[in-house]
Amino acid sequence: MRIARFATGDGIAFGVVEEDGQVISKVAGHPFGGVEFTGERYPVSEIRLVAPMLPTKVVAIGRNYADHAAEMGNDVPDEPIMFIKPSTTVIGPGEAIAYPEKLSSRVDYEGELAIVIGRLCREVPRERAADVIFGYTCANDVTARDLQKKDVQFTRAKGFDTFCPLGPWIETSLDPGDLALTTSVNGDLRQSGRTSQLVHDIPTLIAHVTNVMTMLPGDVILTGTPAGVGPLQVGDEVSVGIEGIGTLTNRVVSRD
Ligand code: ZN
Repeated sequence: MRIARFATGDGIAFGVVEEDGQVISKVAGHPFGGVEFTGERYPVSEIRLVAPMLPTKVVAIGRNYADHAAEMGNDVPDEPIMFIKPSTTVIGPGEAIAYPEKLSSRVDYEGELAIVIGRLCREVPRERAADVIFGYTCANDVTARDLQKKDVQFTRAKGFDTFCPLGPWIETSLDPGDLALTTSVNGDLRQSGRTSQLVHDIPTLIAHVTNVMTMLPGDVILTGTPAGVGPLQVGDEVSVGIEGIGTLTNRVVSRD
């Protein structure tokens, strides 16, 4: 099932994108714990998709593909490295990434598989990880690389408003074990990886994160990016595509 959030003249609601991708069926309330349809259906051409969830936090994992760790001159970590992107970084498909030109001159894309949590959970053992996963979506862990190198930690570099595009929807029935992941800029392929290359797999990430903090329905874990990260410029259009999910496309505009 593909769960989206969408805007109409009446406000924002969750909906299920039906298989042909042409129609969205509105859901009453939220979809966590079960979907109840209102009976209202809209042509996708007449609605606007927004971020597929509003997480209370986005937990991101660093250096989780060996080829990306190597291109950054880093070793693969024994344990997952985690950092937080504020909830205010989240934008949806088609929304603009705001380039903070007065503060950074090097802003990179990072295409990633995102895990969406479906229920309140903590201290989840690896073997129970599947029970707390609602589904998967595409993410772009936009990063001010110059500030990441300058600062001791990642808060500023990873935390600008609009630096976490998510979408276009959540796929709830998907085996994430070996999916093709690509990132392209203005149609040119820049990253091409497979989720089978994750250093720390999804059950390990869920166990690791939930041993530190409680996750709430709609919270997101970004699983890391493969090799090929590189800069964005104002005016670019960046797309992250994941097999079995879809393609998340955003343009870059100047913030200043
Ligand atoms: Zn990342």
